[in-house]
Amino acid sequence: MDHENKSIHEFDFQLICEYFSHLERQGPGSPDVTLKALSFVDNLTEHAAIADIGCGTGGQTIVLAQHAPGMITGIDLFPLFIDLFNRNARSLNLQEKMKGVVGSMDNLSFHEEELDLIWSEGAIYNIGFEKGLNEWRKFLKTGGYIAVTEASWFTEKRPVEIEDFWMDAYPEMDTIPNKVAQMQGAGYIPVATFILSENCWTEYFYAPQKAVQKAFLEKYAGNKTAEQFVAYQRHETQLYFKYKAYYGYVFYIGRKI
Ligand code: SAH
Repeated sequence: MDHENKSIHEFDFQLICEYFSHLERQGPGSPDVTLKALSFVDNLTEHAAIADIGCGTGGQTIVLAQHAPGMITGIDLFPLFIDLFNRNARSLNLQEKMKGVVGSMDNLSFHEEELDLIWSEGAIYNIGFEKGLNEWRKFLKTGGYIAVTEASWFTEKRPVEIEDFWMDAYPEMDTIPNKVAQMQGAGYIPVATFILSENCWTEYFYAPQKAVQKAFLEKYAGNKTAEQFVAYQRHETQLYFKYKAYYGYVFYIGRKI
């Protein structure tokens, strides 16, 4: 496809991919939190089959590969992220433990009851929390685990500015008890739920973006789409610092009944 024929939408998509490819993680999280969630999963052996859905460049997959027995398949829609994922795996000599493939989370090619564990950090919102839990369940063995992170409200009520921002970005955002009830309703025992520590946002997600934003604006000087995209990211960051008492990411871990 040549450049002239690209729609604004496709250009956006490429810009966003490029921006996030410079980051170790494409969503809030940290090695400590990944390991904490993994500590609730007790069915893994060296033969375990694990899927990391919406794996990005593999920040959390590397931590899993270093600490969990079994083989991890990372799936992401964006080929650039999967290239980086597999490059990262090779550079850490983890290529036998984690393999990235391009694919979509709404059209997974696993067999029924194939998986011991489904992992997904900061990505299930792309299909929707409830839909993802329901649709992915068939790929798990009975007694298999699912561990996902999802943006959630901490309180029943919150200021209108932050309510409006998130309801526009992700209308399925809900309170923790409602998310847990959805997990139970989808056929899992809710094994554990915990809020990701603030440094998952500040230290691991927002801080590394500062340098990327600067370089990005220099590279795309005068490009309105790039400028608007960076402005949006900065706005989201400011809102987080202002309203972090009201929302955050939450790990939900369930076991298939
Ligand atoms: N798990 C990573 C990335 C989270 S960002 C981390 O925590 O760092 C969300 C990821 O979901 C992105 O990498 C994006 O490319 C991927 N994604 C978006 N829609 C998808 C889809 N339909 N199928 C698979 N992956 C998708």
